[in-house]
Amino acid sequence: MKQINVTRSSMAPIDEYIKEIEPLWESRWLTNMGAKHNELENKLREYLSVENISLFTNGHLALESVIAAMGLSGEAITTPFTFASTTQAIVRCGMTPVFCDIKPDDFTIDPDKIEALISEKTSAIIPVHVYGNICEVDKIEKIAKKHNLKVIYDAAHAFGVRVGNRGAADFGDASMLSFHATKVFNTIEGGAVVYHDEALTEKLRLQKNFGMATQESYPEVAGNAKLDEFRAAMGLCNLRYVDDDIEKRGRAVERYIERLDGVDGIKVWKPQVGVKANYAYFPVVFEKDKFGKSRNEVAEKLAENSIFARKYFYPITSELECYGGKFEIQPTPIAKYAADNILTLPLYAELMPEDVDKVCDIILR
Ligand SMILES: *Cc1c(COP(=O)(O)O)cnc(C)c1O
Repeated sequence: MKQINVTRSSMAPIDEYIKEIEPLWESRWLTNMGAKHNELENKLREYLSVENISLFTNGHLALESVIAAMGLSGEAITTPFTFASTTQAIVRCGMTPVFCDIKPDDFTIDPDKIEALISEKTSAIIPVHVYGNICEVDKIEKIAKKHNLKVIYDAAHAFGVRVGNRGAADFGDASMLSFHATKVFNTIEGGAVVYHDEALTEKLRLQKNFGMATQESYPEVAGNAKLDEFRAAMGLCNLRYVDDDIEKRGRAVERYIERLDGVDGIKVWKPQVGVKANYAYFPVVFEKDKFGKSRNEVAEKLAENSIFARKYFYPITSELECYGGKFEIQPTPIAKYAADNILTLPLYAELMPEDVDKVCDIILR
């Protein structure tokens, strides 16, 4: 039986990649902000319609680096309905996560619940554009301005999403992007920080390169998070295909919506109004009392048929055992409900309409 996984990495044609990396055998410049790295930075700045971008070896270290570069401490208001990375970055940077609940319609932070969580220790809001759904950025900005807080978006899911003529990574003080193999655009592993304040340019450079300003001067304590030339080259190749990939993903999503929307007990993902989506994920909520089967039962049945969907996200990060007893955990019932009932169905550029039909047939049966 043909196996269908929840995702499948996009890869540009191998000949193109070989041509892209060939000059490296001449230059012998393999990492440390080389020609491919700089070319990718420029191409992405343009593609994403943003002012400033700094590339990193992965999205997670990009997020840790921007938190450190901004010198944040104390509490960060965030949501637990995210990949572990968001919360782990906050904690690894010595901050305390304060968990805000999400909205049931698009799974992003509920801005009306933020202000009640602000204390004198709060220094930042770190929301997530979950599944490429854009947070209520205007409301969040207003709250942040009023209380003098920084806003850093986890935009790992939002590559290429646009709101009107604005790129999704342009919101807040900064945004983190991930170019992991499973994301809409990949550099195998990779990531970036997009930001507005020019003063961060040097600070981010220090964060990714051992805090080294010159060979004899180290003004910051920092690690190593540079993107190498081979992965930058992969990014240059994959970037040429990403619009085409997003279109193909969109067609698969359209087919899913045609087949599953309106079924009792099934709530399917829909693009937000006024947003050009990237179709990164196709989450479905199964309401057992109406649908008759739970999310776990549906996942098991699909797996019996070699179709591997994912409970994404499960569990909520506020329940990760590594935080047990370390912080106060705020109740977030809507996030908890989402984590217990959501399944992201297989979705990637090469997913064929007949594959979508096969997944839907099993669910509907
Ligand atoms: C993928 C992802 C990350 C981490 O990005 P990496 O590039 O894998 O380090 C962080 N947050 C979210 C929401 C993600 O999906």
